[in-house]
Amino acid sequence: MSFMTSETGVIIVGAGESAGSLAFSLRQQGYSRPIVLIGDESHPPYRRPPLSKAFLAGEVSAESLYLRSADSYARQNIELRLGLGVEAIDRAARSVTLFDGEVLSYDRLVLATGGHARRLLLPGADHPNVHYVRTITDIERLKKEFLPGKRLVVVGGGYIGLEVAAIGIKKGLGVTVIESLPRVLARVTAPEVSAFYERVHSEQGVKLLTHTGVEAFDGDPRVTGVRLGGGAIVPADIVVVGIGLVPNVELATAAGLLVDNGIVVDALTRSSDENIFAIGDCANHENSFLGRRLRMESVASAVEQARICAAAICEKPAPRSGPPWFWSDQYDLKLQMVGISQGYEQLAIRGDINGRSFSAFYLHDGEIIAIDTVNRTGDFAVGKRLLAAHARAEVAQLADESFELKSLLPA
Ligand code: FAD
Repeated sequence: MSFMTSETGVIIVGAGESAGSLAFSLRQQGYSRPIVLIGDESHPPYRRPPLSKAFLAGEVSAESLYLRSADSYARQNIELRLGLGVEAIDRAARSVTLFDGEVLSYDRLVLATGGHARRLLLPGADHPNVHYVRTITDIERLKKEFLPGKRLVVVGGGYIGLEVAAIGIKKGLGVTVIESLPRVLARVTAPEVSAFYERVHSEQGVKLLTHTGVEAFDGDPRVTGVRLGGGAIVPADIVVVGIGLVPNVELATAAGLLVDNGIVVDALTRSSDENIFAIGDCANHENSFLGRRLRMESVASAVEQARICAAAICEKPAPRSGPPWFWSDQYDLKLQMVGISQGYEQLAIRGDINGRSFSAFYLHDGEIIAIDTVNRTGDFAVGKRLLAAHARAEVAQLADESFELKSLLPA
C-alpha cells in the first residue's frame, strides 16, 4: 500500500525526461508533500538523445543515460514506481488506477507520458528486423543486429533517421536512407542546410533516396528487401523506421481532457482540468515566448515545462518560456538549432558551408526567428540571446563574418 493513501500529493504519470526534472524541481521549489513517479518502462528517468547516438554506437552504458541515480530519488523522498503503467484517471475522485488494479489518490496529477514512434502501416512492418528508436529496450534489440557488413535501410530522413545512418556508417554497415519528401530534414531546415546534410551523408557512403516512398516489405519471417514506389527493391538485413512521434494522449482523451495534437495546456502547463497538468512531448502548450501554441519534442522544452509546472503547483511565479532549441549530432557535425524557422522570408548564411562550419539565420519581417548552427557553438550561444531579444538584422550584416553578432543585442 502506498503512503499516498494517507496524504495526497503529486502523481506524475510517465518517468521520462520531463517527469524526472519535474520531481526534483518540485522539491527545489519547496514542495513537501508526497511525489510519486509512475513509469511503464523498467528504467528510472533517462536521456533519450544518446539512444540514436553514443548508446547505439555502443560507447556508453544504459546506466549512464539515467538523469539521476536511483538513490537520489529516495534521498528526496520521491517514490519511483517503475515497470507499471497508469490505466485510467478518475477526475471526480482525483485518483488513478494502475494496470495491476491499485488505485492511488492525487492532489495534483501531471501527465508526462511522452510519445511513441509512429508505426509504418505496411505488411511486414512487424517483422523482427524492423526497428523503432524510442527506448533503451528498442536500442538494445537493434544493437544485436547492428553489425559490420549488414545492410541497413533507414526509412525517414529526419534527425533520428540521419543519426542512425551516421552511426551505421561508423560501425561499417551499408546504409540506405529513404525519404518520401524531396529533401532530408525538410520540416525543420532550409533547402541549403538539407543539401549540406545530403552531401555529407553521400560523401560518407550513405545511399540517399529522396522523393521516394516505401510500398512494401519483402521477405517472411524477416524483411529481406524494401520495395519502393517505383517497384525497385532495396535489399535489407535491418530496417529502422524513423518517421516521427505520436503523442501518448490516450489516458487524457479517455478522461475527457481537451486534446488537440497533444494534451492542450495553458502557459502554466495546466490542462482543461485545473488539477491536472501535462508537460513534455505529450503536451500542446501555450508558449509565452512564441505567443502561440506548440507541441515541442525536445529536451530543452521538457525541462523548461517541468520548471514551469513545478512553479505552478507550488503557486510561485513561473519562469517564462525561452526560444525553443534542439541539437543533433551526425559524424563530426554538431547541429544546434534555436527558434522555429517555419514561415521565414529571408535566409542568411554566415561562414563556409563547404568548410563544415556555418550558421543559417532565418528572418521574418526583419526579425531573426531561427538559427541553425553547424559546428559553431559561439554563434549558437549568441543566437539564443538574439532570439530572446527579438533582434532584427539585415541579411548582409549576418552574412558578413566581420560583423559582430553581439552588436545586435540590446544595450
Ligand atoms: P519521454 O522521455 O518519452 O517519457 C515519457 C515516459 O512516459 C515514457 O517512459 C513512457 O513509456 C511513459 N508512459 C507513457 N504512458 C504511460 C502510462 N500510461 N503509464 C506510465 N508510464 C507511461 N531532444 C533533443 O533536444 N535533442 C536531441 O538530440 C534528441 N535526440 C533524440 C533522439 C531519440 C532517439 C529520441 C527518441 C528522442 C530525442 N530527443 C532529442 C527528444 C527528447 O528525448 C524528448 O523530447 C524527451 O525525451 C521528452 O521527454 P518526455 O518526458 O516528454 O517524454
